[in-house]
Amino acid sequence: MLDQFGRQIDYLRVSVTERCNLRCTYCRAEEGDCPKERELTADEFTRIVSVFADLGIKKVRLTGGEPLLRKDIMKIIKNISVIEGIRDLSMTTNAQQLNGRARLLRSAGLNRVNISMDSLKPDRFKAMCGGNLDLVLKGIEESMDAGLTPVKINVVLVKGRNDDEVDDFIELTRDRPLDVRFIELMPLGELGQHGSLRVNNAELISARPHLIPLAPRYSSQPSRDYQVEGYLGRVGFISPHSQKFCRSCNRVRLMSDGNLRMCLGDNSELSLLEALYSGEDALKQLIAEAIYNK
Ligand code: SAM
Repeated sequence: MLDQFGRQIDYLRVSVTERCNLRCTYCRAEEGDCPKERELTADEFTRIVSVFADLGIKKVRLTGGEPLLRKDIMKIIKNISVIEGIRDLSMTTNAQQLNGRARLLRSAGLNRVNISMDSLKPDRFKAMCGGNLDLVLKGIEESMDAGLTPVKINVVLVKGRNDDEVDDFIELTRDRPLDVRFIELMPLGELGQHGSLRVNNAELISARPHLIPLAPRYSSQPSRDYQVEGYLGRVGFISPHSQKFCRSCNRVRLMSDGNLRMCLGDNSELSLLEALYSGEDALKQLIAEAIYNK
């Protein structure tokens, strides 16, 4: 469906939990304000996503928090993957609990994964995110083997911490069909407030003339994609700061407590819970109005 600016809104991000098992230094310092008891159930997510699908949502991304912390994540995936109209179901994960589960996720109906990995050096990875790099690397391999493809690697660059690894990340695309995407630091956590730590994607691109620009796969794609000649994978740059993509924004975000955010960069929310229990028509009308006013 179209919003008041004529943008086609067809992409829903679903934060299935605000809980997380890592503390990335650039992300929120605290977990969000939705304790486990207030998280929607798998059935509630399914009912809400079905209404979104009726209104024209075609792509759903499960995110968080860390989505794999939900014990019923397989049920959530199974339910959403069979909703009529949903053509693409993906998940963003830190991969700390991915090992041994990629095939199960694929057979539950997940199409692909984005995996966050901010450093290729174990100590540095631990310092930036508090996690185990080995688990992430294994998770990437397992996801590729399971067909959760294309596997996309999300890298948030922070000046002086990991911005010397850009070319090492690009090298990952040499022999494997991986998409490595550099995401500009957004003003989220404490670190994100320091604009001086942000690495400018436009500068990274212009310093690498060997990157060949690729045509966007779809018009609302936030990343600008490149490839090194002869390499199997792709390199994307997501630049909410230096190349804002609000004009082609096609997404809204459902929070784990049933609140809806119309803009990922704005904390204002609308609760869907009351409408959810007033019936499908009430919910549909509320969402349709909210999307129009995005
Ligand atoms: N826990 C999952 C993960 O780590 O992939 C999903 C949630 S995480 C918030 C989703 C994505 O947001 C990750 O790729 C993370 O790197 C990115 N992210 C978090 N804080 C950010 C910031 N300040 N600027 C840019 N990206 C950020």
